[in-house]
Amino acid sequence: MNLVPDPIHAIARASGWTCLIALVAGCATGPARAAPSEERRSAPPSESAARPPAQAAPSASPAAPPPAPEAPVERLGWVNPARCLTSCTYAPSTSLVRIDNQGVADDAGAHQVDRSIQEPLRVLIAAAREAGHSVRIESAFRSYADQARLYRGTKQAGRAARPGHSEHQLGTAVDLRLPTSAAIEWLSEHAAAHGFALSYPEGKQRITGYRPEPWHLRYVGTTLAGALHQSGRTLEELFRERPDRGESGNCEDCPLSISRRRCGAVTTAGKCTGTVLSWCYDGALATVDCAASQQRCGQKPDADAYDCLAP
Ligand SMILES: [Zn+2]
Repeated sequence: MNLVPDPIHAIARASGWTCLIALVAGCATGPARAAPSEERRSAPPSESAARPPAQAAPSASPAAPPPAPEAPVERLGWVNPARCLTSCTYAPSTSLVRIDNQGVADDAGAHQVDRSIQEPLRVLIAAAREAGHSVRIESAFRSYADQARLYRGTKQAGRAARPGHSEHQLGTAVDLRLPTSAAIEWLSEHAAAHGFALSYPEGKQRITGYRPEPWHLRYVGTTLAGALHQSGRTLEELFRERPDRGESGNCEDCPLSISRRRCGAVTTAGKCTGTVLSWCYDGALATVDCAASQQRCGQKPDADAYDCLAP
């Protein structure tokens, strides 16, 4: 099981969703290709052997290099209200490292993250502080049991993911304390350059299943984070386009019943109960309080589905 993304250090030069798909498929060509020293592509011998010589493009000159083979697809943990981790109680226990609230490795630190993201996180926070924003880590790795406690203790609808469904359980997601709106803006502009994607941006509740959380970041490497940022898409949208890029479980192995919630009478179009939007999200009940993002719950003209709308 490879739930932790390998860091990808190539600089993202792609723009637009098409390029994003090409990038993550490992089939980027021309300027979007990674530097040779960081190449991770190598065709398995069987693949090379299976390719008959006649497959060379007729227009290619004799001196042209053979086309780059596709890299094996790297799969990332895909969680949302309907999808759990491949093992519901998964914990990256052997790769967790303790850090302080600035991301500096510290055996007495209050937080834990996957070792692979400690340095990018420390550098991101240092860059934010250098820019005048005193951000710090509010929450990082949370175990299944931690998430269950948080879920049970949270009153606001849809504020916490059900245990087994949280990116925090991967060890590669963090919540930052952002003291000002300027800090929020800075983070949304600069997180990608450090390899972090914003999982829950504004206006995407119906896609992500959660309220906007400008403080919630997930490390996916600079190439993918850059491509997501440029295209304005979320990781969830990538997974929907490319299900082979994500991996998740079906929640049946979750020890607690609160990890599963069926839709009952709630339809895909959903309903409003005051400011609270609930709808059937791929077979699981999703709930978001639109008031958390200063919005109201309602129906757009000519739209069937309910959504969080401008007040
Ligand atoms: Zn979070």
